Amino acid sequence: MPQYATPTPGGLSEELFARARRVIPSGVNSPVRAFGSVGGTPPFLASARGALLQDVDGREYVDLVGSWGPMILGHAHDAVVEAVREAAGRGLSFGAPQAGEVNLAEAVIDRIRPVESLRLVNSGTEATMSALRLARAFTGRDVIVKFAGCYHGHADALLAEAGSGVATFGMPGSAGVTAAAAKDTVVLPYGDVDALRTLMATRGGEIAAIITEAAPANMGVVAPPTVLTEDGREIGFNQLLAETAHAAGALLISDEVLTGFRASREGHYGLDGSEEWAPDLLTFGKVIGGGLPVGAFGGRADVMALLAPAGPVYQAGTLSGNPLATAAGLATLAGLDDAAYVQLNRAADVLTGMVGEALTAAGVPHVIQRTGTLFSVFFRDRPVVTYEDAKDQDTAAFSRFFHSLLDAGVYLPPSAFEAWFLSTAHDDAVLDRIGEALPAAARAAAAQG
Ligand SMILES: *Cc1c(COP(=O)(O)O)cnc(C)c1O
Repeated sequence: MPQYATPTPGGLSEELFARARRVIPSGVNSPVRAFGSVGGTPPFLASARGALLQDVDGREYVDLVGSWGPMILGHAHDAVVEAVREAAGRGLSFGAPQAGEVNLAEAVIDRIRPVESLRLVNSGTEATMSALRLARAFTGRDVIVKFAGCYHGHADALLAEAGSGVATFGMPGSAGVTAAAAKDTVVLPYGDVDALRTLMATRGGEIAAIITEAAPANMGVVAPPTVLTEDGREIGFNQLLAETAHAAGALLISDEVLTGFRASREGHYGLDGSEEWAPDLLTFGKVIGGGLPVGAFGGRADVMALLAPAGPVYQAGTLSGNPLATAAGLATLAGLDDAAYVQLNRAADVLTGMVGEALTAAGVPHVIQRTGTLFSVFFRDRPVVTYEDAKDQDTAAFSRFFHSLLDAGVYLPPSAFEAWFLSTAHDDAVLDRIGEALPAAARAAAAQG
């Protein structure tokens, strides 16, 4: 890896990172933040407003990370900040029921048809972990099927060949996961209908659930492919998963932690859902917390009814349904009207157009993949469906591209395996700033490292 200068050599970010590494493993509280795969020192951030970030050295960046998804209305959005401030004035946590929990559950159920009942947790990881436990209890089976490159948080059973940081650092999974946990997880290549049929034919009766990202977005963005059923119908991959799971007496868990309320107003289900099929359980996070720690899982009322205290499946949380978190989530959803998605889609059109033009002009092999408002850029010349495809890209070219943009004041996700996150605050002036930085970044990507 070439040495990359930090945006402000000798500045406060470097000093803080040195201190951080003495007291926090690798200096960060979530792996991708350490810039391990792109090199250099991560800027420490001091504040953010709209589409702009400010670091502790006083540099400004156009943000394309959006805290990995939650900041869909832009940072420090007035209505969201005011809702949190108002809630804070009434108490930070009760550990008892409060109206915001009901309002947030109703807001989710109102948008996402298959969700009949919803429970709030504190992260996406908790949501998927709880959904798995519930699916296992409902079916009385142990085995979970997941797809390589899909990330579902860091619960033991779901770390095998996961996306996100696990992909960024090329890890097969994680140390510290027991053989028993790994044994109950079967990993298939994404979109591989034959592998799925073979597995279901041999082990269908053992499978509690198939879990999938509604659209993989943690190995870069992959729109679910259209596939052919055995009786000759052309349907979306997610519908095939629902039909396949149900035929085997298993559940489909659609992980919408990233895509929920982002890919479209109704999440990814709003793009490929229909009256003909539905996941049994869905998981949410990111946008529904508006920047505070919230996750949720929900779906069929008969499945959700198994949760304690009425049912035998234990699941709990001291801070679950926290009043500040529900206030932030509700204010964020309230700001996400139809016009917001029109704007997000338009910003995605403009930005993908500019990126494609700059990379093409510089002769950099690339594919831009998109589903709804969500997209990413792969540094290879053929489309990506599987995790193997995603790994087969020029990550060194991405690092050069990334650092050129960072130096020019554009903050991309520090990994070639992540989606680019837009917000409603990415207006034309902000997009123009990115546009000005792109040609030089594309030439840097093209230069031999
Ligand atoms: C981010 C993410 C998670 C994990 O959520 P955390 O809040 O980071 O625990 C799970 N699934 C998907 C699809 C995600 O993108």
